[in-house]
Amino acid sequence: MNDIELEKLKEKGLNEHIPIIMDDTLEKIKEILLEEKPKRILEIGTAIGYSACQFAKYTSCECIIDTIELDSQRAEDANVNIEKIGFKDRINVIQGNAVDILPTLKEKYDIIFIDAAKGKYPIFLEESLKLINKNGLILADNILYKGYVMSDYNKHKQRTAVRHLREYIKEITENKNMSTQILEVGDGLSITRIKNNCN
Ligand code: SAH
Ligand code: MG
Repeated sequence: MNDIELEKLKEKGLNEHIPIIMDDTLEKIKEILLEEKPKRILEIGTAIGYSACQFAKYTSCECIIDTIELDSQRAEDANVNIEKIGFKDRINVIQGNAVDILPTLKEKYDIIFIDAAKGKYPIFLEESLKLINKNGLILADNILYKGYVMSDYNKHKQRTAVRHLREYIKEITENKNMSTQILEVGDGLSITRIKNNCN
């Protein structure tokens, strides 16, 4: 793998204001990956392939990563970047709307990383529960959304996203088959262990 190209991709993401994973969030996920040793990961929200390449870097060469991206230009860019960095054989970019793609997936995953449209998090969770292995982890980025989610201020234009993020948090914290941690790293990261997958 080419670390210099991966570093360049991070710079490109930051310069172009693409919301790539933040360093402290990545640090936490790196720990999780080294501990869990997943064999298959699903990512919802590829952007330009930065986080997917980081996940590949911290998992074994047998670990496959499927990642879904709505925007066709970004999906194309991601493929180019993934090839440059040297993970073409381990990362599959699936172009399309995750809401439509998720019900068609045939594999089961050890870790699912949700990092796309915040208003869709409850749907992504529902679909992810059908795809996660028993004892698997579902991670969600941006779960605290700049602090809006935990504050009572509710009049800004992001209120629909905030409502859906709160709905997501309610489900992962109240469902008896799940055990959840919410961390204030980056823009908020939730880590949910699926104890008994009833799906
Ligand atoms: N995980 C990336 C960043 C993802 S940014 C990283 O850390 O490097 C979020 C991405 O989700 C955007 O590129 C956006 O186009 C995509 N997205 C938004 N809604 C989506 C949907 N419904 N299905 C798939 N991708 C979606
Ligand atoms: Mg994010």
